[in-house]
Amino acid sequence: MDIDLDLLEFLLDKGAYHIENSVQGAQHLPSTVMGVATFLLDNEGNIDLLTAKQRVTFDKFIAPLLFNVRCRGVSGPGSCKGSGQVEAERLLSCYQSDKFRCQACRDSKSGK
Ligand SMILES: [Zn+2]
Repeated sequence: MDIDLDLLEFLLDKGAYHIENSVQGAQHLPSTVMGVATFLLDNEGNIDLLTAKQRVTFDKFIAPLLFNVRCRGVSGPGSCKGSGQVEAERLLSCYQSDKFRCQACRDSKSGK
């Protein structure tokens, strides 16, 4: 599992509210999740260095933000033209613009 360190850094800084949202309603504190994310960033994304407990936090709150982000489609949920997921390499620009669209949706949007 390759972690996009630029993306991780963004989530610890300007994008911190994404982490806060993902933790909402769970019995974790955002600071706990941020702590794990900071640890990973300091260790170049090497998840093998996480303790079992940190790994659970990572899998539950951080991995979905890095690897499993749903495309919001051309015109809302369910209108995705692609796989339904945003490609990992596009994620940082998606987070920065707050527009979560996969490549196929972007293509169909710009083709008009
Ligand atoms: Zn899409």
